[in-house]
Amino acid sequence: MSDLIPIEDISEINPDVTCSTCRANCCKLEVMLITETGVPPRYIKTDKWGSEVMLRLDDGWCAALDRDTHMCSIYEVRPLICREFEMGSFECIEERND
Ligand code: SF4
Ligand code: SF4
Repeated sequence: MSDLIPIEDISEINPDVTCSTCRANCCKLEVMLITETGVPPRYIKTDKWGSEVMLRLDDGWCAALDRDTHMCSIYEVRPLICREFEMGSFECIEERND
């Protein structure tokens, strides 16, 4: 029997890994817009390769992040990549530890 913990079980084992105890670290990552979800144009930037990405401000966070609550202000229309970023995943834990 393997001692490895499946990634999806990490947040159950460590209840501290929740978005409510995190300052939205993953919202500092580059988010490419690969599908149309209705993100308002003021939050979109075209990068030097011609791809649409979420605009980030000088503090490093996505422009759509509410700086007071650390919650997504466009949650209903957030990009696909944000929808698929899983709390408790390896990537999430890496960002939290950063
Ligand atoms: S998904 Fe992970 S990194 Fe992103 S806000 Fe939630 S706990 Fe933080
Ligand atoms: S769109 Fe919302 S969830 Fe995605 S990076 Fe920006 S603030 Fe975070």
